[in-house]
Amino acid sequence: MEFELIGRIHARAGGGRADVHLGSGDDAALLAPPPGQELAVCTDTLVEGVHFAPATEPADIGWRALAVNLSDLAAMGATPAWALLALTLPAADPAWVDAFATGFGELAARHGIALVGGDTTRGALAVTVTALGFVPVGQALRRAGARAGDLVCVTGSLGDAAAGLRSLAADDPAAARLAALPAVQRKYLQARLLRPEPRLGAGTTLRGSASACIDVSDGLLADLGHIARASGVGIEINADALPASPALQAAFPATERSALQAAGGEDFELAFTVAAADAAAVLGVLAREGPGATPIGHVQEGSGVRLVDGQGRAVELPRQGWEHFT
Ligand code: ADP
Ligand code: MG
Repeated sequence: MEFELIGRIHARAGGGRADVHLGSGDDAALLAPPPGQELAVCTDTLVEGVHFAPATEPADIGWRALAVNLSDLAAMGATPAWALLALTLPAADPAWVDAFATGFGELAARHGIALVGGDTTRGALAVTVTALGFVPVGQALRRAGARAGDLVCVTGSLGDAAAGLRSLAADDPAAARLAALPAVQRKYLQARLLRPEPRLGAGTTLRGSASACIDVSDGLLADLGHIARASGVGIEINADALPASPALQAAFPATERSALQAAGGEDFELAFTVAAADAAAVLGVLAREGPGATPIGHVQEGSGVRLVDGQGRAVELPRQGWEHFT
């Protein structure tokens, strides 16, 4: 049964690349990274009930499991090539596996990724993906490197995934407003949660110009805290400058948006710092290539991340972001 399931996964999500000298089916895959490139490698686990609700469609789980890893590669400025999939399933359900692999395969095909192996075990539902990609030697975008005076920018928009999550909860305080949204806007917010688009194009564009970069997974302020710590700097963010989609603006007044945008997480946008002199050129290229990016604050001497309003007054939030074991 295990091997039948593995076959079903590869039929839907396998992909093929010339640099896969030996793919799934042996004890290990044999891969040929291009000369002059570093291998960027990351892994992330999704556990049912922790990272996604039990009601989540298997196709969305498959997409998301790959997307969160591709977002990490994007944040390094890497181009993805290969993936491994460790799947723990409560039961051998071919229909579930087919739908899961179809969602995974859709995103993999979009970025030319080959699934080169994995592991299949029985237990509580959990999905671990390992993604591998390339970045020219020495050009990866790191968390360290931000300097006082740099601008802080973010791609796309913030807060949509958190709003999408709230629109799926029946007892949410904003349930009436979310239910009153046009269906296309409600679906947009939910898609931002369930089918995040890793900003791979923006990541490679930022190579050579961003001084530091991270993907927004836990919440903007929490993630920028990692840049501040790694770079030995402080960061000030203007809550009024955070980019909000039309759907988010329709569902939440400005006073409620800040918390979703600054601490909501799961947007999988890229937050980066760039020298003020380089900012206009970089923002121009990102705008042409889409999703665009917005300046939201600046890097200072010191430490920590502060959220202020347009007048420079501190904005207090209930929490800064998501952390396990707290
Ligand atoms: P081994 O016992 O040698 O680890 P497995 O029986 O676990 O081998 O896996 C057989 C082959 O199928 C391996 O090449 C492995 O990479 C691949 N494989 C197993 N599970 C998955 C999966 N969920 N997705 C993709 N490939 C898988
Ligand atoms: Mg194995």
